[in-house]
Amino acid sequence: MKRFTAIVPCYNEEETVPIFYDEMIKNDPFFRENDLELELLFIDDGSTDSTVTKIRELHDRDERVHLISFSRNFGKEAAMYAGLQNAKGEYVVIMDVDLQDPPSLLPEMFEGLKEGYDSVATRRVNRKGEPPIRSFFARRFYRIMRKISQTEMMDGARDYRLMTRQMVDAILSMGEYNRFTKGIFGWVGFKTKWLEFENVDRSAGTTKWSFWKLFKYSIEGITAFSTAPLVISSVVGVFFCFLAFLMVVFIIVRKALFGDPVDGWPSLVCIILFISGVQFFCTGILGQYMAKTYMEVKSRPIYLKNEKNCF
Ligand code: UDP
Ligand code: MG
Repeated sequence: MKRFTAIVPCYNEEETVPIFYDEMIKNDPFFRENDLELELLFIDDGSTDSTVTKIRELHDRDERVHLISFSRNFGKEAAMYAGLQNAKGEYVVIMDVDLQDPPSLLPEMFEGLKEGYDSVATRRVNRKGEPPIRSFFARRFYRIMRKISQTEMMDGARDYRLMTRQMVDAILSMGEYNRFTKGIFGWVGFKTKWLEFENVDRSAGTTKWSFWKLFKYSIEGITAFSTAPLVISSVVGVFFCFLAFLMVVFIIVRKALFGDPVDGWPSLVCIILFISGVQFFCTGILGQYMAKTYMEVKSRPIYLKNEKNCF
């Protein structure tokens, strides 16, 4: 019998946990047929509601349910890492608790592994039910990422992914503090099969991602998987040096031909303002990478457990 671990990050999900469990155990016949032993590993990401109690209730009823609880909210990336570290399964899947990653897809995903793939990933083909502005920026983000990073990243890709043990171990070998799992999946490689599905609305509760949080997450992704912004700032620097050189030549020639008229200070002010803006922007880019390096160098733990675990 092989073990099959489902990692489920939860943050204030008291409403969705029971619904998720009911939906998940509908797959029991599938697990039995394939001789798989389910391990349902909930990661409580510092919830402040009764999520932990709800999961403990499930644990008392069903010994396949396990819980790791964080000392505070560390974010979904940390929760996924904790899950991967503690998963005992030969096969490991990461899924959201809100049923936006439909558990009914698991048998089809498992087929992929049987076909010889190392991982089966999923992507949504539409973003129905999402605010249009959020979809717009998400699409731009993936387009930019594809251009500036060497790592493959699919538009609409979810963290819902079934992996073999060797891929899990590869991901765990990347112990970076600034984690961007969507990039890490692509970076480690391995043969991946993509399944597509229609977007589903949350079963209950509300999304934990504000626009601002997503924006910060996208910066995280860019700095973690591309150094293109640093190159861009150097290119901008070279461009302005060249422009300045042309202007010097132009002014010398004009002086030689027409004398020295003392006008043009407004344009001067504009140019100074513009260039200093560009300078600040480039320093900002540098700062972003410095900040990431600083956090990396501190090598703080990615998450901390508290004592409410059930194993
Ligand atoms: N989540 C988490 N920690 C956080 C935010 C979210 O563990 O700080 C979990 C959440 O409980 C859910 C999953 O990550 O299982 C996806 O979150 P959500 O549904 O809010 O995101 P969306 O589907 O809107 O992108
Ligand atoms: Mg969701």
